Amino acid sequence: MSAEAINLLGMPQGELEALFTELGEKPYHARQLMRWVYQRGVTDFEAMTDLSKSLRQKLGDKTVIDLPQVLSQHDSADGTIKWLFESGFGQAVEAVFIPEPDRGTLCISSQVGCALDCAFCATGAQGFNRNLSAAEIIGQVWHANSVLPRRNNDAQDFAVTNVVFMGMGEPLANYRQVVPAIDILISDLAYGISRRRVTVSTSGLVPTIERLGDECNVSLAVSLHAPNDDLRDRLVPINKMHPIAGLLDACWRYASKRQNRYITFEYVMLDGVNDRLEHADQLFELLEGRPAKVNLIPFNPFPGNEFWRSPTDTIVRFQDRLRERGIVTTIRRTRGDDIDAACGQLAGKVSDRVRNRLSEKRRRMATA
Ligand code: SAH
Ligand code: SF4
Repeated sequence: MSAEAINLLGMPQGELEALFTELGEKPYHARQLMRWVYQRGVTDFEAMTDLSKSLRQKLGDKTVIDLPQVLSQHDSADGTIKWLFESGFGQAVEAVFIPEPDRGTLCISSQVGCALDCAFCATGAQGFNRNLSAAEIIGQVWHANSVLPRRNNDAQDFAVTNVVFMGMGEPLANYRQVVPAIDILISDLAYGISRRRVTVSTSGLVPTIERLGDECNVSLAVSLHAPNDDLRDRLVPINKMHPIAGLLDACWRYASKRQNRYITFEYVMLDGVNDRLEHADQLFELLEGRPAKVNLIPFNPFPGNEFWRSPTDTIVRFQDRLRERGIVTTIRRTRGDDIDAACGQLAGKVSDRVRNRLSEKRRRMATA
């Protein structure tokens, strides 16, 4: 294999077909390859028995299927599983699997850190490091599907039925790599997940919301967290560039591109900050008569943070206030508390134990 081997992981069908043509091969082999890699979890070209020997040889010489390296797996008592993936320079990104009777949701990361610096978020507190590649994004799904048992023991019934971009990073700030990853999630040659079951969560990059609506049209969740600009400026600083009115206009346009499409508004409940009934009333004014659902997220604390979680009865009262005026409002159940897998707690810290294991592995590789 040459030093510049091309990584086929994360390459959408069109690009793969072009690559096969460039290699002097028929483009339909791209479809075979995708089925092997994503549906059967096979990454060794030699095992791809319906490709000719000479094609397997060519692929082995010029290309590679380079999976992200898994540093550790953490299993929660409630069934939630978190993986740390190596992302260079002692950093890691995290993916979290949340099993439920009727679905398996994988929460994936799109960046190492995040530049948007929301006041209540551990990833934001860490600062921005770099964008993940499409291979590193889809690699999280590949790994979960390859280690978890298929649902109902059916070969096509992947453990991951839903994917949410709610891990580390702002997916719309890494649009160029997120779109090919979405292509693979929804492709029938790969995971075949419906657009409705893929959710991009954004803090509100308005121009990119427009693009996403035109080009992908997956489900959209918007991290609103405050019902007026003064408060949102403080909690979600990107609001100073894209204030609420323009953000909501973009949301309604997004929703109108497909019928019966609701936008989910995430609202983290911070004690004494944004959780009063007058805030619920302001939120109602913003969302009244619109295709909107609200998801209240109990704040998940992390070290060195200034906020407190709203008491449960405050969260329930806030929910009731919106519900009685006709806004569908849910409260997110916090899962994986014992393994720091909850929203906003993902900081990609590589523990000393893992770091030691990693440097040991590197040492072994260097001396091999
Ligand atoms: N950057 C994207 C997606 C990743 S964050 C976004 O901001 O939407 C996923 C969700 O977790 C967002 O709604 C985010 O606001 C929320 N969140 C961040 N920190 C949190 C915390 N400490 N407690 C609860 N939710 C948090
Ligand atoms: Fe970034 Fe989202 Fe965290 Fe804000 S909440 S800092 S946008 S990851």
